Amino acid sequence: MSHADPSFYARWRQQCGLVPALHEITEPPPEQLLQAIWQQQRLRREQLRTLDGRPVRILHPGFLSVEGGPDFRGAMVKFADQPPISGEIEVDLQASGWRAHGHDSNPHFRSVILHVVWSAPQKPAAGPPILAVADALDSPLNELATWLGSETAPALPEEFRGRCAAPLRQLSDDQLQALLGQAAHIRLRGKAAQLAARARDAGWEQSLWEGLFKALGYKHNTWPMQRLAELRPRWSDGANSAPALQSRLLGIANLLPPELTRARPDADGFVRQLWDRWWRERDAFEDCQLPRSMWRLHGLRPLNQPQRRLALAAHWLADNDVVSALETWCAEAIVGPASSQSIKATAAKTRKRSTAPSTLAKILHPRRDDFWSHHLTLRSPRSAKPQLLLGEARVTDLAVNVILPWLFARANEGRNELVQHAIESAYSEWPAAEDNSVLKLARIRLLGGTGLKLFRTAASQQGLLQIVRDFCDHSNAVCDQCRFPELVQAAISASLGADAN
Ligand code: SF4
Repeated sequence: MSHADPSFYARWRQQCGLVPALHEITEPPPEQLLQAIWQQQRLRREQLRTLDGRPVRILHPGFLSVEGGPDFRGAMVKFADQPPISGEIEVDLQASGWRAHGHDSNPHFRSVILHVVWSAPQKPAAGPPILAVADALDSPLNELATWLGSETAPALPEEFRGRCAAPLRQLSDDQLQALLGQAAHIRLRGKAAQLAARARDAGWEQSLWEGLFKALGYKHNTWPMQRLAELRPRWSDGANSAPALQSRLLGIANLLPPELTRARPDADGFVRQLWDRWWRERDAFEDCQLPRSMWRLHGLRPLNQPQRRLALAAHWLADNDVVSALETWCAEAIVGPASSQSIKATAAKTRKRSTAPSTLAKILHPRRDDFWSHHLTLRSPRSAKPQLLLGEARVTDLAVNVILPWLFARANEGRNELVQHAIESAYSEWPAAEDNSVLKLARIRLLGGTGLKLFRTAASQQGLLQIVRDFCDHSNAVCDQCRFPELVQAAISASLGADAN
């Protein structure tokens, strides 16, 4: 492992089969990859049709099941003009799997609403409606295999230190940072590829809005937020102010409160205004209104309630300049004043980049909102102290998960290496995001509880998350068959050998 080798982590992924060699990608793909494609919805989602010819909208792909039975639970699907229905999804390579695997006589499969298969069968097949996805992928199969190979397995509960902790302890801080940095860049490029794939179908601006909305869904509400963003061509005309957009978005999302509090006149007054506007236009949007049951509202902190996030999105949308402001921000704060390589210009660029988080926050923080700046939710009492609609931690989440990957994807599309390098540098230097339970567990398992000092940047956190996805999620609590420890050990031995020579 050396700083002169900029691609060892990418090679490790290849050696472990996480990135299949191109000649290994044959059709049909492995079922695990088909599941990953479904879970991440790497499909041209507007064009899906069942084999009986009905258009089908996937409002939520469901949650990957680890308990047997159908592959995905709690999915929500809309067939043609029918109301949305929820149920399970079974994923098989072939439609004949429905009978061959005994699903037709298994009571656990009675609530399957869609049978997702690779390609259409030659003969009509039994069972629920069939969706063949081979011709509906949003990217070539080998590209999907590269990025999705590690995204499917659910996190495993773990109490003990991993087998990799011992070899990782032998690395110096610089070596560990180099490892985390490479894994982080794999993650940046993966997210950029996903945004680029969507842009090919829907355009760059739509791809950005979908990414932003999805990120605003924050863990539990990513799918309904994504669906709302996908509907943007329907709702974006004719509502130009933040209040008009708020009421339209909340109405389509089905998140307007059905009742007033009757105890808080200011909250009730605001809700009445929202309803007044929505009543006037709801017939026009009835066909695309989301089922309220799509949202997970219980147990969310008030700051993470989707109504609050949609109020923020309404401000961004009302300010027609957000997208161009992000592009200008990239040119000025990330790429820097000049492409000159002089020491003076480089120092100026570095200084400028250090202001990137605060200048991005200025773009993303809306002007004061009469209601939301003093209420956490639509039912909260008025607080004297103003509340931000977007905390600093969320600015970082949006930056590393959506905005920088989107800008990187655009620079990549334009083959602009100077801009790509500048974005990669900004990504590497971005201050750390809020700690979370996945990171905490990974630090204990992989690094024996190494303190936070190694994780001062968001990229080091992203790198650790990528290692968890690539290796921990493919193993088990006792690290069975995980090749990460041996790869780290071999890299240490190689660098010791190189030093001895
Ligand atoms: S599964 Fe692999 S990467 Fe994860 S803790 Fe165990 S040895 Fe380390």
